[in-house]
Amino acid sequence: MFEEIVGANLVFARFISGLCLLLRRTQILKSLNVLDRIGFQPDPSALAARLRLDTLTGALPLERMLAGSVRLARPRAAFALFEPVARSRDSVEIAGQVFSSRVLRVNLSGARTAALFVATCGVELERWAQGLDDPLERWVADEICEEALGAALRVLEDALDGELDGKYRVSMNPGSLEDWPLTEQEPLFCALERSGDVAGATGVELTESFLMKPRKSLSGVRFASGEQFADCVLCPRRDCSARRMPYEPERFGRQYDGARRGSLYAGTCGREPLGGPLSEGR
Ligand code: SF4
Repeated sequence: MFEEIVGANLVFARFISGLCLLLRRTQILKSLNVLDRIGFQPDPSALAARLRLDTLTGALPLERMLAGSVRLARPRAAFALFEPVARSRDSVEIAGQVFSSRVLRVNLSGARTAALFVATCGVELERWAQGLDDPLERWVADEICEEALGAALRVLEDALDGELDGKYRVSMNPGSLEDWPLTEQEPLFCALERSGDVAGATGVELTESFLMKPRKSLSGVRFASGEQFADCVLCPRRDCSARRMPYEPERFGRQYDGARRGSLYAGTCGREPLGGPLSEGR
């Protein structure tokens, strides 16, 4: 009798675990899609103007640096599509991973599909930049890496425009809001890993401190929405040249009541060209 009960329990446990696995799998709508043929052709005069290099003419081998970086650069991006499932009033589940954020939970409430993504300048360019000794050259190389990340983000954004149906596209990145802190990189990477070999395909790795390697990488979730959203809506910072939407202090109470208030981590907010948070659907 005892053996029969144990046996029945075992069968039930296997059934539940199989069911959970199945449920998790059904949340993956499209497995990892890798974008690794991304052209990189930075504009020397635009870069020089942005970095105000005119005063350094002759002191910096910009043309040579750009030529070298273009030869090496392999920016990449990868995304997978998931079905987000609301779990509580301030958490949402994606591919069996729980994401804790009131703002994310509210923003995803009308979305049937959410894309998790990673984009990067690529390990090749990062190694090249780190191998430079001259501090001035390293500073410029940093900007070149940023440009390569921008190229990857533009291609990613175009690819996702074909996948996400809705008036606006909204992107959110862990670490950009106190309500969705950097530690949330862990469930994001775990969910993405379920869809394929992200690290193998992009070279992006998550460190113990939840930062990414290469440094010029960006991860996040992108989805279609009937309403515009950018972190700036919840950010009281004055005189920010990168602001994309006006601050709406009453929106916290009206739409995100219970969310953690707080300033943003400047490292991930205001980043172009993911001006995508405001981009309209086609
Ligand atoms: S870009 Fe500026 S205004 Fe917008 S969230 Fe970042 S710091 Fe705030």
